[in-house]
Amino acid sequence: MNKRHIQTQILHLDRKNGAEHGANHKPIHKSTQWAFDCAQDIVDTFQNRRSGYTYARGGSPTTAALDAQLNALEGGLGTVTFATGMAAIATALLALLKAGDHLVASQYLFGNTTSLFNTLGEYGISISYADPTDAAAIEAAILPNTRMVFVETLANPRTQIADLSGIGAVCAQHGLVYVVDNTMATPALVQAKNHGASIVVNSLSKSLSGHGAVLGGSLTDTGLFDWSTYSNIYQGYQIGDPKNWGLLQLRKKGLRDVGGTMSSDTAQQISLGLETFFLRIERASQNAHQLALWLSQHPSVAHVYYPGLPNHPQHERAVTMFNGQGFGTLLSFTLKSDAKSAFAVLDDLQLIMMSTGLGDNRTMTLPVAQTIYAEMSAEQRNAWGIEDGLIRVAVGIEQIDDLIADWAQALKI
Ligand SMILES: *Cc1c(COP(=O)(O)O)cnc(C)c1O
Repeated sequence: MNKRHIQTQILHLDRKNGAEHGANHKPIHKSTQWAFDCAQDIVDTFQNRRSGYTYARGGSPTTAALDAQLNALEGGLGTVTFATGMAAIATALLALLKAGDHLVASQYLFGNTTSLFNTLGEYGISISYADPTDAAAIEAAILPNTRMVFVETLANPRTQIADLSGIGAVCAQHGLVYVVDNTMATPALVQAKNHGASIVVNSLSKSLSGHGAVLGGSLTDTGLFDWSTYSNIYQGYQIGDPKNWGLLQLRKKGLRDVGGTMSSDTAQQISLGLETFFLRIERASQNAHQLALWLSQHPSVAHVYYPGLPNHPQHERAVTMFNGQGFGTLLSFTLKSDAKSAFAVLDDLQLIMMSTGLGDNRTMTLPVAQTIYAEMSAEQRNAWGIEDGLIRVAVGIEQIDDLIADWAQALKI
């Protein structure tokens, strides 16, 4: 039989993995403690020689069911979930880096990630930022003590597309852990493992859960990195096949030290969102593409940033990197100087919400420079290409005609 589509696999995974009493959904396990029948079992579980649950900070059967679904999506070796995307990223860095290490990061990162990296800079991890659209720029930033490279597939809000494969080759050549935050592209459109990622980050608060009603994050070990060569794996996690060392350290040490564990209630809610993940992404990406085309032809619009448009600087790369189901749900645009001001246009919207959300079912918009990048200096915003009048649109699954009609009336002078 042909390998089934991942959406089909996810819909049936809980049942196939033996959810209790033949239930279609993995039940919500509320226990925080597990008991053992014999002393050797509790000892082996504590010493990582036997799989099992001990205390729910390290995960529960319900989070494990979500881990399995996300892992199927990413084609990974294993996946660990966290309470938020930021908890996932913080855990990856705290569990895998030490003082004295160097990190090369994309210069176009989710703002809160940059904030975290700057904090880690205060704890002895040095960081260089480089342009991820150019693998040579990333390579040029590598130092003898570099351990990790961290990039986002698709940057928010200007939609720069990283050279994922080129950077993957650089990381493989230099033996570096390659962390790809794939939140904005999503695994429905880009599978980061195919481009050499060692670890894939997803914020589950966005398109993967989809309804703007729950927070979560995940780390997937793709199985591509050779952990036997990595100097930061602690002795206690060098157990069994070296392939599993990184994942073991992320799960055991990561969840233990940071404690950013996802609750079982949240895990089941995200699993329900995953049941319609491909449907929602395909619809929202089509909407975003149509809206980007319509805006780019509007007389008041100066420029539209969307990877599906032929004038996007990385359009050719996007065509080969994205799997043909769409170019993502995010776009941004600026207005001409003789048009209404960005604030006036946003104030006149009747349907589309002014909100910081991404990957919701509802379309959301905001003025970028004055909100999510307000803490950044004007100079730095300039370097990132964030003009004062830049409007971000996170496109949802409404009927496209209704979205276009709302922008049309708001843009009217
Ligand atoms: C939202 C987001 C995060 C953080 O996720 P939270 O779940 O909000 O903590 C990280 N990276 C990217 C690219 C995001 O969009």
